[in-house]
Amino acid sequence: MRVSSKRQPPPAPEPLSPLIDAHTHLDACGAQDGDDVRAIVSRAAAVGVVAVVTVADDLASARWATQAAEWDPRVYAAVALHPTRAGALTDAARAEIERLADYPRVVAIGETGMDLYWPGRLEGCAEPALQREAFAWHIDLAKRTGKPLMIHNRDADAAVLDVLRAEGAPDTVIFHCFSSDSDMARACVDGGWLVSLSGTVSFRNARELREAVPLVPLAQLLVETDAPFLTPHPHRGAPNEPYCLPYTVRALAELVDRPADELAEATTGNARRAYRLAAEG
Ligand SMILES: [Zn+2]
Ligand SMILES: [Zn+2]
Repeated sequence: MRVSSKRQPPPAPEPLSPLIDAHTHLDACGAQDGDDVRAIVSRAAAVGVVAVVTVADDLASARWATQAAEWDPRVYAAVALHPTRAGALTDAARAEIERLADYPRVVAIGETGMDLYWPGRLEGCAEPALQREAFAWHIDLAKRTGKPLMIHNRDADAAVLDVLRAEGAPDTVIFHCFSSDSDMARACVDGGWLVSLSGTVSFRNARELREAVPLVPLAQLLVETDAPFLTPHPHRGAPNEPYCLPYTVRALAELVDRPADELAEATTGNARRAYRLAAEG
């Protein structure tokens, strides 16, 4: 297994069960084959994470994620082209994503959306107009497949809401790694959309986010690692993995002043309903 950071991985947290990691990237965590996948998911299971959704950001990753979901019954997949890669959404790519989206263990269309941070900073990043067109296509795919739409939104609140309103939101919408302010949280609550929280809720300097989170009802919350990125406090900068999820849920519990057990039960129930997972997995 490749190690994605020079820093030591965080120690295993106290178990907290049941949890579902609503958005992670097992391939970017270094997993290549079934043994790697089982090892990562078993480390997570040891601290109470009963299932994970591994998310694709390009075509190769989408093919891999659908395979990974076959290798271990605790793994589910989501497929799409990441907004920064929207330029690669050719006719052939659309046909392949449509084919992969039909797999029963593919439980969401994502991550798609808008990213206004990377254009101009990252060479080859899709321009906003292309991102918008790709986002609209993925929204339509979510509707056609009846699967949840998983949104990536970086510095793009207004643009994401604009496209959702213009195209019409599908029945189930998930804002992965929600990092916006109170206004955006209210828009998600009013839309009946799910807000998925990552390690950023544990960052002491994420002031606007920490003000926004208490506005979201428990019934609309999910939790995720977005591993290998966004490792929760106090391990920020170390490599993240699904087993780190309890750190985030405990930080969330402190923030909303509720027991961590209650948040675990509620977010796991929400994830099972949103992704239509069987009760045992
Ligand atoms: Zn993302
Ligand atoms: Zn992600």
